[in-house]
Amino acid sequence: MFLKGKTALITGSTSGIGAAYATALAREGAAIVINGFGDAAEIEAQLAELRSLSGTTATFCGADLANPQGVQQMLDQAAAELGGVDILINNAGIQHVCPVEDFPLEKWDQIVAIMLTAPFLLIRGVVPQMKAKGWGRIISTASAHSLTASPNKSAYVSVKHGLTGLTKTVALETARDGITANCISPGYVWTPLVEKQIPDTMKTRNMTREQVLNEVLLASSPQRSMAMPEEIAALALFLCRDEAKSITGANYSVDGGWTAQ
Ligand code: NAD
Repeated sequence: MFLKGKTALITGSTSGIGAAYATALAREGAAIVINGFGDAAEIEAQLAELRSLSGTTATFCGADLANPQGVQQMLDQAAAELGGVDILINNAGIQHVCPVEDFPLEKWDQIVAIMLTAPFLLIRGVVPQMKAKGWGRIISTASAHSLTASPNKSAYVSVKHGLTGLTKTVALETARDGITANCISPGYVWTPLVEKQIPDTMKTRNMTREQVLNEVLLASSPQRSMAMPEEIAALALFLCRDEAKSITGANYSVDGGWTAQ
């Protein structure tokens, strides 16, 4: 349990990759704030599971990260209930698939707020605490779309490229403070976020579900397979180790070879 005594705030952790991060960190003894939307009973069950794995605190903040007040509420809750944040994982995300000429401004603004402004505000909020302790880990789930683009995902591709720039800048600013900042860039991971974009892609490209899976989603992967959330969480866990203290400003691809092409 190498994270005993450490605290973690993980955004978008009621589902998918974020939930896998929470489980992996709890197994190593971290106290955790989870965040996101979802069914109240399922979130209670997730918290109970996290507490039994870690033997310590697990708490939920349902703040909407599209709203800067929600971000502050989460920082305040982490301070009050966990005594601060040693490990920040920026993970919450949404997708909107639409040609650029029809892309709604509200969707653009929402994606920028959740996936770029919220990570900036959270990093800004936790860096002083991490500097004071001389230890911190900032991990952000970027995407293969931080390195390459796909049609009809203008907002998503833009914020993921931005997140890697933010991470590199923070890595430089905190390089002498015992803090590391890194991105993990998955290809397709089998989660509700991917499941939800299948009907949109069927519509915009006039395809069947099978065609979307084989000709769009898996077509980008030389391995022709999706990763599971636990694979992404295993890498995040490694980045929390002391053995990873020299890894900062990096962007790790976990994409079956997609961006090696
Ligand atoms: P998911 O839909 O399973 O989970 C998203 C999480 O974010 C949920 O907990 C949801 O409640 C939360 N969330 C959404 N909007 C929010 C808001 N406004 N405020 C607070 N929480 C909010 O998705 P996932 O696939 O696990 O994605 C997690 C991250 O991984 C995202 O940043 C996504 O871009 C990235 N990613 C996913 C894939 C993939 O193939 N699944 C690939 C590359 C990158």
